[in-house]
Amino acid sequence: MKKLDIAIIGGGVAGIFTSLHIKNKEVTIFEKESKNKSNVLKRILVSGNGRCNFFNSNIVKYLPRYLEKKYISKLFNYFDSNGFAYYINEEGYYYPFFNKSECFYSFLLNELDRTKYKIIEEEIIHIDYKNKIIKSTKDNYSYNKLVLATGGRSYDRDNYSYDLITDLDIKYNKFTPGLVPIVVEEKIEKSLVDNKLKCIVEVIYDNKSIYKEDGEVIFKKDGLSGICIFNSAFIINSLLRENKKENIKIRLDIFSHNNTSISLDKASNSLPSFLKGIKIIDKRYLEYTFKSFYDFKFSHTSYGGIDISEISKQLELIKRKDIYVLGEVVDRNYPCGGYNIGMALLEGIYLGEILSGK
Ligand SMILES: Cc1cc2nc3c(=O)[nH]c(=O)nc-3n(C[C@H](O)[C@H](O)[C@H](O)COP(=O)(O)OP(=O)(O)OC[C@H]3O[C@@H](n4cnc5c(N)ncnc54)[C@H](O)[C@@H]3O)c2cc1C
Repeated sequence: MKKLDIAIIGGGVAGIFTSLHIKNKEVTIFEKESKNKSNVLKRILVSGNGRCNFFNSNIVKYLPRYLEKKYISKLFNYFDSNGFAYYINEEGYYYPFFNKSECFYSFLLNELDRTKYKIIEEEIIHIDYKNKIIKSTKDNYSYNKLVLATGGRSYDRDNYSYDLITDLDIKYNKFTPGLVPIVVEEKIEKSLVDNKLKCIVEVIYDNKSIYKEDGEVIFKKDGLSGICIFNSAFIINSLLRENKKENIKIRLDIFSHNNTSISLDKASNSLPSFLKGIKIIDKRYLEYTFKSFYDFKFSHTSYGGIDISEISKQLELIKRKDIYVLGEVVDRNYPCGGYNIGMALLEGIYLGEILSGK
């Protein structure tokens, strides 16, 4: 059997960025085989609508205690000293300087090339943690240390299997679509479908407003979409986790946005035609009842994963020595805005250092 020192399952941002920060070790990355272009880092190409919003200056408020702020400096020192150009918009969102995901993608691939680490394009289908063996579609490998960075089940993961997580016999929470459009109980009026409205979105539970965001809503045949709706879905996921399922409303104040508010009476001569004849509650709101989420293939992230009670501060599974987990496979969930890739990058540096023995 082939013997590996550090084996990483998953060539996404989390797995690859970890590998880039492991020094003086032998590293092997496993990524699912692909008929055409390699799957390594492929998700970056579709992220942020082809622009890859890879970080957010507000990420500090989501940092787990073990990830000290110094890792943010380390991340940008790494980018600056290796020639990755980026810019930050007024809202604190980071993008590649040339506004293209491909710039981040090719930067990381070049960095990976420099390491000369081995990439094996085989899907891992079984982990035997007792004997420290992983089984792929083609072969068996023994490992010294194992990193699980397999991501979630969103977007293009139609045949998702929980096998690797269940092999580990640890607590996990089944994935639900995380950042995703919402299906509503009410029928969306024909004139609204495919139109966009800037507004203030609120999630109402038990008649209380529990989330508010100034954004833009896109009306679909059976529901609502847009970044502010994705973030509302993220909040609704946390309600459902607490079994709070009934009577979740999405309220749109369509007469307020960008710190400007007007009354229906004042705006009545300049309403867009698609709003004419639409029932407006209290001369201000459109209101919908949450029914469900769109399917995984429409979601940008998956909510759920390996329970954080199973993971040590070193990202090692407490009950399964020498197995480390990070990225979207872990039940740490973040809203839109570069937090998901950003956190995978920070955890990648952190774990890379741990595995280098620092
Ligand atoms: C359309 C879209 C747009 C997005 N836009 C943004 C954005 O702008 N900003 C942001 O922060 N986040 C964005 N995200 C979310 C972000 O891409 C993910 O949260 C992030 O990529 C997760 O990184 P990861 O490495 O944990 O998982 P992934 O990127 O999912 O990587 C996991 C890898 O593991 C491989 N794998 C899985 N199982 C196996 C196995 N058994 N054997 C071998 N390999 C395996 C997969 O093929 C995959 O390559 C977006 C997501 C989507 C789908």
